[in-house]
Amino acid sequence: MPYRQVQAYFSTFAPVRCIAFISLGIGGLCACTTTHTEQVDTEQVGIAQNSVREATSPAQEAATRQAIPRRQNTSPLQTNQSAQSRAPAPDFAQTSDLVFYYFSTAETTGDVLSKNDDYTNALQPTEIGIKNKDATKTTLSDLQQNYKTGALDWTPDESKALSQIINELREDLTPYQKHLPSAISLGKTSALVEGGLPHTRGNLILFAQSSLDDYFATAASSPDKAIENLKELFLHELHHVLSRHNNTLHDDYFSILGFKPCTFIEPSKLKARRLTNPDAPHYNHYAPLDSEESDGVIPYITVAGPYNAQKGEGLGDYIEFGLLAVNEENGTCTIADSEPGLRPPSDDFFDLIGRNTNYIIHPEETLADNFAHLILERKGLANPEILEEIKNFWAQQQ
Ligand SMILES: [Zn+2]
Repeated sequence: MPYRQVQAYFSTFAPVRCIAFISLGIGGLCACTTTHTEQVDTEQVGIAQNSVREATSPAQEAATRQAIPRRQNTSPLQTNQSAQSRAPAPDFAQTSDLVFYYFSTAETTGDVLSKNDDYTNALQPTEIGIKNKDATKTTLSDLQQNYKTGALDWTPDESKALSQIINELREDLTPYQKHLPSAISLGKTSALVEGGLPHTRGNLILFAQSSLDDYFATAASSPDKAIENLKELFLHELHHVLSRHNNTLHDDYFSILGFKPCTFIEPSKLKARRLTNPDAPHYNHYAPLDSEESDGVIPYITVAGPYNAQKGEGLGDYIEFGLLAVNEENGTCTIADSEPGLRPPSDDFFDLIGRNTNYIIHPEETLADNFAHLILERKGLANPEILEEIKNFWAQQQ
């Protein structure tokens, strides 16, 4: 998720912008005519991520470390995001000579959201209680009721705006078409689903009603800005679908940001507080950093205790982000501190992963923002080489 809106949630650590749920999606698909209904590719929901790691020798380790790219120390590029209409839209679809996409009805969206997958399997009771706004409703079936109620139909204005944006991105997404699923669906949700944050599940991109409301509100005075923001959101979310569809490549792909694979032994106390990101539900990679204290860090998100109306009703009132110091041995990462604690992002962490974005809660999210920068041909970034590396990575895949 790049939840652009969640940027504010990370006020504790200035460099962080959003959580695992971001945004408004993109589009790079071509809208034509044809009708295709209710063919959500639910089979794609829940692709298992790779978790088995090969052991590395100390020599290999040292060699790899030397190869880790270091980024220049400059300020991250700031971007913002920010949409209207309600009235059930008819079931309809769009197709393309590049990739098939269609607008999902509320019913189908609710069905896909309710399906068990990697994300739902990773969810913890405390975070479910917060998402349900009730500390006693901590089961998956409690959450699934929200998914059914929170799934919305598209209005004609909304789907038209998104189709235009997708069509404008079509050509620039051509090189990635063969790496995308054969069909992508676009769903819409209320704040009942994942705190109202845009995200993805399987091949379904979920747009928050608030993001679309922001789009229309901004378009009234600054149409170019509104279009740019919506494109960025779509591209960020599309990247999650692209990445999930090719999850066996993650070890190589995440190495663009300097991350290395490891099987993380997650302490139960920590796991109980985890906030699971639907776009990146696993912690299978760490960022190696030169330190006498530890071998590196894992960016991690937790919730600040169980749901309590006094504390706040929004997911953002509970989100905590930081870096977990870890030691790595034979492909396994363990907590380096006697008591696991979240550390603020350090300069050497940014030296490693680059400063093109403050959305650093997971390599998947950082790459998604960089992918959007790439397709939108953003200039003036601190680390433009990352965009080139992403472009080359996908160009080299079969
Ligand atoms: Zn994201």
